[in-house]
Amino acid sequence: MKRWRGWGDDQKTYPLPESARPYLVEHVGQLSKFKDISQKELLKKVPNSRIKNDGLILTDPFERLIHARGQSVGDWIAMYSGRIDAYPDGVAYPESDEDVRELIKTARRNGYHLIPYGGGSSVLGHINAHKEEGPTVTVDMARMSRLLNLDEISRTAEIECGAAGPAIEAMLNERGYRLGHFPQSFEFSTLGGWIATRSTGQQSYYYGRIEPLFLGGHLESPAGSLELPVFPASAAGPDIKQMLLGSEGRMGILTRATIRLTKLPETETFRAIFFPTWESGTAAVREMAQSHLGVSMLRMSDPIETETTLQLAGKPGFVNLAHKGLGLIGIKEQRCLLIYGLTGTSRATRLAYHEVQRIARQHHGFAVNFVIGHTWEKSRFKTPYLRETLWNNGVGLDTLETALPWSQVLTVNSAIRKSLSESLERFNEKVLVFSHLSHLYPDGASMYLTFGWRRTKDPDETNARWQIMKNAASEIIIQAGGTISHQHGVGHDHKVWLSTEKGLLGLKTIQSVINVFDPKGIFNTGNLI
Ligand SMILES: Cc1cc2nc3c(=O)[nH]c(=O)nc-3n(C[C@H](O)[C@H](O)[C@H](O)COP(=O)(O)OP(=O)(O)OC[C@H]3O[C@@H](n4cnc5c(N)ncnc54)[C@H](O)[C@@H]3O)c2cc1C
Repeated sequence: MKRWRGWGDDQKTYPLPESARPYLVEHVGQLSKFKDISQKELLKKVPNSRIKNDGLILTDPFERLIHARGQSVGDWIAMYSGRIDAYPDGVAYPESDEDVRELIKTARRNGYHLIPYGGGSSVLGHINAHKEEGPTVTVDMARMSRLLNLDEISRTAEIECGAAGPAIEAMLNERGYRLGHFPQSFEFSTLGGWIATRSTGQQSYYYGRIEPLFLGGHLESPAGSLELPVFPASAAGPDIKQMLLGSEGRMGILTRATIRLTKLPETETFRAIFFPTWESGTAAVREMAQSHLGVSMLRMSDPIETETTLQLAGKPGFVNLAHKGLGLIGIKEQRCLLIYGLTGTSRATRLAYHEVQRIARQHHGFAVNFVIGHTWEKSRFKTPYLRETLWNNGVGLDTLETALPWSQVLTVNSAIRKSLSESLERFNEKVLVFSHLSHLYPDGASMYLTFGWRRTKDPDETNARWQIMKNAASEIIIQAGGTISHQHGVGHDHKVWLSTEKGLLGLKTIQSVINVFDPKGIFNTGNLI
């Protein structure tokens, strides 16, 4: 079952390996435990609902509590300290388009706000209620998760938008197909959430981001229902699909979507290569991306991420062996790890494998056996559980991401890492910062940074420090001309930076499209603009 707060399935944990403890102490300081508020105490704090339970909308405190916040650090601070400034007044679980239309009608009649809710895995405050707003209802799409149609000839499927990653893959795999969209939040995030935030899966190099996978669908909005027909391609004016991609729940509720499928691959493996430096590794993956190699994933970690990954794996014997062995061939402390994926037919993956090896060798890369790649594959959705473990040991962990042209990747990456590392010096605190390049394009790359620091006893102080770090890094991204988000979206937390990227005319355009679908501002008014 999904945890009531924090990340993930309550049956799964990622215990902190004892061998990783000294590494963390060295990089952030002594670990400590804090007393977090219990569920019982928190439930007592949920205020009375401003709406009445009418069957379609539930108002019990537990439902309102578990839908109150998403997965950002700010959300975690609120959920673990009990300082939650706003709760939804009710939660609805529609089961059909008619239910959604009924909810919109009820909201219009009574002046309610509506928040579409997929898996609640937003890391940018997308699904939070706002205290300055009137009564708010969270619309949880979990009961709209059916496979409606699978067209084997065209290789498309129509699926309800509340379906989460595992259910989608299970329904398709059974018939021999795959969507292939695997964000790290795969276990809980949903088709509707992916479209509404323009998400990216780990194997985007092969399957693409969600944009090319989303072919059409159905939206229920205050202005009416919108059916988006499916075409292989269309030159009939601007593409309305593109307006719904990234709409962050502001234009209504996507109830179903038609998606592009791929046959289950004949073979799939993940492999690893070490490079002596970040520069050599980056040059290698750039060449791979610009050569359009048939790989499904290229994920290049910087030296600190490489070291942290090895340390947190909890296999000190293996780490020592790797350290000694790689040292002998000149791959020392600055080593960087590339994990790459080979997906498809045996013939195509063999070809891609040889091409990756050829380019890697030119950049002094050293391929290791399949153990590291296989371990990455096994733990690809497990890493977020570590965030919970670290949180319980007094360490906050957050991520941020951008995309930049290749010509700026190295300089901006080092500027962001420097600013994050130094951002808490005034408090005499250390910040552990590491990064990887994940989604690669011929013209540039997305850069994903993780930073860890110590929580303080006072949740407001922890929040203030988190804001300092996030603002410092975001300002560098914006000044360098990077996007404020390659994959997580804008939500509430990034909207101050959106105007730099879109320009005032661009923002007006977005606002006017929102006004067409939702003239009275019923939906998710905290997001985007
Ligand atoms: C541990 C972790 C790992 C992550 N890894 C990735 C990653 O690899 N790649 C990536 O892109 N993102 C990642 N994210 C971010 C997040 O998972 C994505 O933004 C995801 O697409 C959100 O999907 P969701 O179903 O959880 O949506 P929610 O968080 O519930 O909602 C997100 C937004 O979409 C809107 N929305 C949801 N459903 C609908 C609908 N049916 N109709 C209209 N609007 C809707 C909501 O109103 C909200 O504005 C990660 C998050 C976490 C916590």
